[in-house]
Amino acid sequence: MTSAELSQTGRYPAGSLAFPHRGLLGLAGLAPHELLFLLDEAEQWVELNRQPQKRADRLAGLTIINAFFENSTRTLLSFEIAGKRLGADVVNMAVAQSSVKKGETLIDTAMTLNAMRADAIVIRHGSSGAVRLIADKVDCPVLNAGDGQHEHPTQGLLDALTIRQALFDKRKGEFNGLIVTICGDILHSRVARSNIHCLTTLGAEVRVCAPPALMPAGIEQMKVTPYHDFDKALAGADVVMMLRLQQERMEGQFIPSPREYRHLYGLTLHRLALAKPDALVMHPGPMNRGVEIDSNVADLAGRSMITRQVEMGVAMRMACLEVLTRKARGVEGWA
Ligand code: ASP
Repeated sequence: MTSAELSQTGRYPAGSLAFPHRGLLGLAGLAPHELLFLLDEAEQWVELNRQPQKRADRLAGLTIINAFFENSTRTLLSFEIAGKRLGADVVNMAVAQSSVKKGETLIDTAMTLNAMRADAIVIRHGSSGAVRLIADKVDCPVLNAGDGQHEHPTQGLLDALTIRQALFDKRKGEFNGLIVTICGDILHSRVARSNIHCLTTLGAEVRVCAPPALMPAGIEQMKVTPYHDFDKALAGADVVMMLRLQQERMEGQFIPSPREYRHLYGLTLHRLALAKPDALVMHPGPMNRGVEIDSNVADLAGRSMITRQVEMGVAMRMACLEVLTRKARGVEGWA
């Protein structure tokens, strides 16, 4: 069933009411049906991406700018492939060679991007809130590709899609009662925040685990249960999501040593046995093998979803770009 047909079943409101937002800056505050709508929309692109012929020209004639002020491998490539598969002209702004390096303010960069009349702008920035600042200054939809420690919404969505595809029958999938353990540098992780918003909204039970120095104060307010003991956090988990230590956001010493960290918080085969027998292993990448995750776990056939997450990333980003440009394309019901 397409999402238009599903809307007739009452799964979500018809037309633009299914997703009445101009851009995608975060998953906080989105309704369950809005998240489900985006997940359902992505299914068709998962199918298309598995065909030899992967072009769908829905966005032909549109221009998408990827403006990444912070390093990226997966997310930038994934957005570029997503835009191109939908037939859009995709332009990557080379920040290292741009006027940003000459001291141009973010607002001036935003106004420049706006004057180029892009139809969507995808932004990654090292400062939390910077993407919103730009979004407020431009006329087209903005998609947040990760801002500081704040949010990485398409990662949260692609992770939910990966879980749903692996664990549930596609359409009837229920997140209710699912136990997801997220372990690592929770303090600096935008991936953790977006996943927490998404998974708790969809009804999953989320546990977060980190050494005390890497656990944000008041995290309970996000409706998660904090743990410092990884073994306890793993007991009975359906999904184990590991996070990298974000050294680039740390000033000073947060952990004694990588060796000590692995000893307490590294996902080994031995530890994984504490979770459910068929528990999924996830990691947003880049991985530090031998620190937060052992290679034999990262590569564990049938259980590790790490390359599947990358695959789902392209489909999820195609869905977000397609939905957010519906108004500009005059799609019926999205005026
Ligand atoms: N790639 C993810 C991000 O951009 C996770 C990470 O860098 O550790 O947030």
